[in-house]
Amino acid sequence: MGSTDTRGSTDTTGSTDTRGSEDTGGRRRLVLLLALVTVLVVVVGLAVWLRGGGADDDPTPTAVGDSTTTAAAVTPSPTPTPTPTPTPTFDRTQLSLIDPASSWVVVNKARPLSPIDWAPADLVPFGNGYQLRAEAAQAMDAMIGVAAAQGIELSVQSAYRSYDYQVSLFSAQVSRFGEDRAEIQVARPGHSEHQTGLAADVGGGGCDIESCFATTAEGQWVAAHAAEFGWLVRYPEGGQDVTGFKYEPWHIRYVGTPLATEMQRTGAATLEEFFGLPAAPGYPG
Ligand SMILES: [Zn+2]
Repeated sequence: MGSTDTRGSTDTTGSTDTRGSEDTGGRRRLVLLLALVTVLVVVVGLAVWLRGGGADDDPTPTAVGDSTTTAAAVTPSPTPTPTPTPTPTFDRTQLSLIDPASSWVVVNKARPLSPIDWAPADLVPFGNGYQLRAEAAQAMDAMIGVAAAQGIELSVQSAYRSYDYQVSLFSAQVSRFGEDRAEIQVARPGHSEHQTGLAADVGGGGCDIESCFATTAEGQWVAAHAAEFGWLVRYPEGGQDVTGFKYEPWHIRYVGTPLATEMQRTGAATLEEFFGLPAAPGYPG
């Protein structure tokens, strides 16, 4: 560096000295001009190259943007369908099967309500002086309404029955038909689903609380559509060995739409079967 500086200074001095000799001065000017032109060409070339580079830079982000869009478009497509697959897995433990206040409580001849004289706290009056638990009453209203719109006239024949009422009903059946037949037709007090406030007997088509209800348009409608409203025909045909009751096409039990539709989907005929509970054909002991 130091040597270049010295040469420069020597040249400057030389140029001032050699003003007289035009040949040398002309050559130097030519060299300087050439150098200047070269620098100019280089500078212009650089500017052009830089612009070109700038232009090159432009497509790069678009290309990146394009690839991002493609990536974004590709990424969501595999995500949607496979992820919700676990949703259909029905959680059979989400509600209690023992708590009498649970809409899934399973009451049968081997599973009395506990306490045995339990009564619901949210009973609401429901047509003809009957009572149901609030949620069941709402579901019954909805079902009767939709059925009526389709020309199906359903009527409630029985709903909530207290422990005390069941005591009198059961003893009346025993004295009328004898104990054996009463046991098949009416549950012992504390063993009736009607005591939960989630069961009802429905009639229509000129056949109330008789097996002929199954042959009426009303009975067939109930069998086909009750689940949509959270109800199930609790004592199905051929289920006596499991439920302890003969076929009762009129007796429906509210369990909520998720469970009722899941039972329909899986083809489970009874709550005992669906939850893997022991059959209860009779009272223990
Ligand atoms: Zn009933």
